[in-house]
Amino acid sequence: MSGSVPREADRDRAPGLLDGAMGLELTPREANLRYWLAAVPHGTLRGWLDGHPPDVAVPDLMRRGPLYDAITREYAFRAVAEEKAARALSYLVPLAPDTDTMEFYATQVLDEARHAMVFRNHLVTLGVPAERLRPVIDEVAGGDVRSILLPLEEFALDVMRDRADFLGGVVVMTVILEGALAPAAELSERKWRPLDPAAADIDRGAGIDEIRHLTVGAAVARQYLLEHPERKPDVLDLIRRGMRLWARLPVRDMVARREELFQRGLERHAEVVGDYEIWPGRRLVDTTPEERQGRAEGWSAEMKEIRLKYMGLEEAL
Ligand code: FE
Ligand code: FE
Repeated sequence: MSGSVPREADRDRAPGLLDGAMGLELTPREANLRYWLAAVPHGTLRGWLDGHPPDVAVPDLMRRGPLYDAITREYAFRAVAEEKAARALSYLVPLAPDTDTMEFYATQVLDEARHAMVFRNHLVTLGVPAERLRPVIDEVAGGDVRSILLPLEEFALDVMRDRADFLGGVVVMTVILEGALAPAAELSERKWRPLDPAAADIDRGAGIDEIRHLTVGAAVARQYLLEHPERKPDVLDLIRRGMRLWARLPVRDMVARREELFQRGLERHAEVVGDYEIWPGRRLVDTTPEERQGRAEGWSAEMKEIRLKYMGLEEAL
């Protein structure tokens, strides 16, 4: 079976999100529906409907206190972000210029809907009563959703739904939305690994999907711009507007609050984390909230730069 699963979609062999998203090239011709069917259900998901092995237990230290507060805020926010992404991306399916690209976006819609589902379900695994899921999500993440996700959604829907601009939509997704949120996901996998392995497995699976979304999205935009060079000025303008919007949003404050909560939990449960290294040569227990956040922001800037260059849009930097 592993013979049919491409390396970049295989849970054991795939590169990390950053290496993968920065170094891999994948086009919709390769990453069409047939590719997805062979790669994702068996290779990335291994049949794990919840994104982690079914027998995994959430440790007690995750069920209350600052770690519970940190992960519920994070996963509630990301569940809403993924659901909004799935809904917005669905507008790209009918606009896609050819069948492979249409199939790719259909699979991306499914991927994002699945990410929303596994983040949401993990809240239940952590102890949120299933029937209270919606109000709890609003309680812990409603403020961040309104101040960050609603303006981003409005910006994306104006391009994808109201103007039916396929290229604009692809660029907004790969540069502004996913490119900016993906490094936070990489940080998440690394920091939750020793504390909540199920969460880290969920993040790993979502991260592998994001490699595909970012690389194929960039390849689609690149090809489209090669065929329609006259679109370049307005796409550059769109990226700059998107970046200005992003800079105005309180993303930093949100991440800082989550990292502060994580820090309190980390100090309380340092013996569980032990010598685990968040990146080579650096023990998680020795890191600070600012350091972790700074690292993720650095990744984000680096990824954005490489993608923009690849698409021929480096002037936006
Ligand atoms: Fe996603
Ligand atoms: Fe994605």
